[in-house]
Amino acid sequence: MDPLTRRPATVVGGGIGGLATALALQRTGWEVTVRERRTSLDRGGAGLVLWPNALRCLDLLGVGDAVRQAGTALDGVAIRRPDGRPVSSLVTEPGARRPLAILRADLVDALAGALEPSVLTLDATVSDIESLPGDLVVGADGLRSTVRRALGVAVEPASRGYTVWRAVVPPGVGPLADPRELCETWGAGVRVGTVPLGGRGTYLYASAPLSAAGPARTAETELAWLRRRFADWHAPVPALLRAIEPSTLLRHDVADLPPGRVPLHRGRYSLVGDAGHAMEPNLGQGAGLALEDAVVLAHALTVEPSVAGALSTYDDHRAPRVASLARQSRRIGQLSRLTQPHLVALRDAAMRMTPDRATRRASAAAHDWRPPATPHVHTHPTAQEPA
Ligand SMILES: Cc1cc2nc3c(=O)[nH]c(=O)nc-3n(C[C@H](O)[C@H](O)[C@H](O)COP(=O)(O)OP(=O)(O)OC[C@H]3O[C@@H](n4cnc5c(N)ncnc54)[C@H](O)[C@@H]3O)c2cc1C
Repeated sequence: MDPLTRRPATVVGGGIGGLATALALQRTGWEVTVRERRTSLDRGGAGLVLWPNALRCLDLLGVGDAVRQAGTALDGVAIRRPDGRPVSSLVTEPGARRPLAILRADLVDALAGALEPSVLTLDATVSDIESLPGDLVVGADGLRSTVRRALGVAVEPASRGYTVWRAVVPPGVGPLADPRELCETWGAGVRVGTVPLGGRGTYLYASAPLSAAGPARTAETELAWLRRRFADWHAPVPALLRAIEPSTLLRHDVADLPPGRVPLHRGRYSLVGDAGHAMEPNLGQGAGLALEDAVVLAHALTVEPSVAGALSTYDDHRAPRVASLARQSRRIGQLSRLTQPHLVALRDAAMRMTPDRATRRASAAAHDWRPPATPHVHTHPTAQEPA
């Protein structure tokens, strides 16, 4: 498209949702500006798991190969008890249907690297959305979105009563039971996940109720608490915790937006990612859904004659899906936080007895999602995937 006729759009926020939306709009002929309040892109956040739905979006955005090269394809997902005994395990499907573990920084670099250099404006906090230029303004400014509030949406983030710590452990500590397996260990109200990142090391996350974790303290004190709390858990959890460098430990007190309560558009404004539907991280789908938002929004703007019509279509398509997954994530969170021994035993027995088939069916709604085919967007051949 002739650059002189490109329609202007502003994206507020340069996280995964904002970068992906900018890329999707750029590829469908929009003149995009991203305004990010930080002075550099956030390359923290330890690791991330991208499920097949997210990888399909990255393919559509033209960065799927780069992301796959930077990440580690996972062969299986296991749930264990603190003594290491398996509760359930699932071999992931081969080929493009495998989930991918990646450093967040590598995903951010892949998305940002595909943008035209002039797109990103750093150190640009948005406080007044009315004055933002463009036929379209996208709020991609996260859980505590300024755009959402400015639109008069009276829905506030809700604390979910637990906290999550994240870190990347350097390579060579372990070994993990399986170098390509995501392992989550569920205890009474607490959880630890280990995710292999190939030559990058191991992504470790742990969660505990806020009542047990207490208010945030220094990283050293937090780490000392984690090491004590999980000292008798199966290998290599204690060794991984011992190997964490305190300055790399992140703590995140979990909050979400009550599912189904936030309208995803109004006038020329729309919301993507956590700004519209922040959810508990139990499905590992928050970033994946932000990527989906980006490609669906760009597609709607391509096929609908007006921005207003496109944003309404976008909202209609996205609202049921994101609300359903947010509710599912809340349910998993509740199960994982059970503390009464008899309920924990019942939960573990139920998971042990659930056949693989049923587990696969339960996750299919999230993972089998496919982006709409946009004629103007380059599509990457997602080899091995049956239509
Ligand atoms: C512990 C944990 C584990 C997770 N694991 C996974 C996983 O494995 N897989 C997965 O898919 N998802 C996962 N998620 C979810 C995922 O991290 C988020 O859903 C995703 O990062 C949201 O991206 P976003 O761009 O919408 O928001 P954010 O990442 O919050 O980005 C918002 C951006 O907007 C900027 N901003 C805010 N306000 C303004 C303003 N006024 N002006 C300008 N800029 C502004 C911020 O600086 C930030 O850069 C996890 C989340 C957590 C907490």
